[in-house]
Amino acid sequence: MSLATVFLQDQNFIHVLYIVAFGLFIYGLSGLTGPRTAVRGNRIAAVGMLLAVIATLLDRREGNWALIVVGVAIGTAVGIPAARRVKMTAMPQMVALFNGVGGGAVFLIAWAEFRDSGGYSGTPLYVAVFSLFAAIVGSVSFWGSNIAFGKLQELLPGRPITLGRSQQLVNGLVAAVAVGLAVAIAAGSHSQLLFILMLIAAAVLGNLVVLPIGGADMPVVISLLNAFTGLSAAATGVALDNPALIVAGMIVGASGSILTNLMAVAMNRSIPAIIAGGFGGGGVVGGASGAGAQGGSVRSTSAADVAVQLAYARQVVIVPGYGMAVAQAQHAVRELAKALESRGVEVKYAIHPVAGRMPGHMNVLLAEADVPYEQLKEMDDINPEFARTDVSLVIGANDVTNPAAHTNPSSPIYGMPILEVENSRSVIVIKRSMNPGFAGIENELYYKPATAMLFGDAKSAVTDITAELANI
Ligand code: NAP
Repeated sequence: MSLATVFLQDQNFIHVLYIVAFGLFIYGLSGLTGPRTAVRGNRIAAVGMLLAVIATLLDRREGNWALIVVGVAIGTAVGIPAARRVKMTAMPQMVALFNGVGGGAVFLIAWAEFRDSGGYSGTPLYVAVFSLFAAIVGSVSFWGSNIAFGKLQELLPGRPITLGRSQQLVNGLVAAVAVGLAVAIAAGSHSQLLFILMLIAAAVLGNLVVLPIGGADMPVVISLLNAFTGLSAAATGVALDNPALIVAGMIVGASGSILTNLMAVAMNRSIPAIIAGGFGGGGVVGGASGAGAQGGSVRSTSAADVAVQLAYARQVVIVPGYGMAVAQAQHAVRELAKALESRGVEVKYAIHPVAGRMPGHMNVLLAEADVPYEQLKEMDDINPEFARTDVSLVIGANDVTNPAAHTNPSSPIYGMPILEVENSRSVIVIKRSMNPGFAGIENELYYKPATAMLFGDAKSAVTDITAELANI
């Protein structure tokens, strides 16, 4: 063996590579805290992952190179085109799928470990325990993520599919079966049948936990399953004595948990309530323009009138929401903002943390349309500004502007922080109908005297306003 090979395969050298890789993961992650540094952060973390893969492959214990090359080739051939082609609105299901693959890899590794060691014979108890934990949680995450993908891709019905009152009892029983089988294996059973039954129980559990949750809650579920995958990968790292897996798994587990919590807080929902399911099934309550349950009436306006109002405003705040994403109106919005700015109107964008259907949804779309970052204002910064705003232009946003969050204690969104657009002098809302948004509730903002509705698809409505503006 050449000196170079001895050096490259030295355990200390491999550990140094791992440490550099972790450093890059953490440095890259810190870049994701702002849109300006996010792309660079992603690249840095990707270089870290490449180093970790190289370090793992250098390890003398790694075997069949041909199989590894085939695996890498298949992964690359599927992953790169999928990631390039995916539409921004389909990103949550893409993340679900990738997360599911991670969980799948973890439970397969645990299974291989079980077979390799002849049912953990001669391995310390802690290795068996961590490996069994990884197998169960990885399997739950794999199946749960696939159900989440199916719901978001509309391959499965988005509405909650539940067993009714017995749901939690059945879930508890299936979980107890999986844990019971794991205990039997850790206690010394070498039976592969038991291991497979345990994986099946975990698979059933993954399905049972996610099926009752409505399609619209899926982004939170995906974030939670992401945390599960991270934890299971870290457990695999302990079992395989692989520090890269431990650190990467813990980073994913921690960031997934923090993100899940942030989303739940921003939606004013508790995580147990989300997991219990039955909310946001995607069903839309019908509604027509005109008199609403509020007892008031709505005022509808035209693109020409909106253009006049905007042209003579000093400050306009654009409030984007899910409808802007659906209509892919971000470029049209940017054009309108440019036209207003050329007339001396100050334009800002109000970004609610859960506008759209995934964290950072609006930031990503507006960045794609080259909106300057400094114009994007977070909720806490923009709320005091609404009182000085002449026109708030709400584009396909609904729940994140609903004053019921402050005024109606019986509302499902009561307590959720909102963008306080109703404080501005005038509010224009662009949406196609009076249909509600994600939470399925009416928005009292639409019945306020200062609010006017411009009904239509966000992209064409915004384009019409810009065209009218040119005539003023
Ligand atoms: P929203 O409350 O879901 O409302 C979106 C509105 O967009 C709808 O009322 C719809 O009305 C309109 N719309 C749809 N397509 C349109 C089009 N082509 N042109 C114009 N308008 C269109 O959206 P949001 O205000 O952004 O609030 C997000 C909601 O999602 C919150 O309740 C949040 O809790 C939830 N959520 C967010 C996340 C996240 O991470 N961001 C995750 C899970 C859940 P019409 O049908 O009348 O057009």
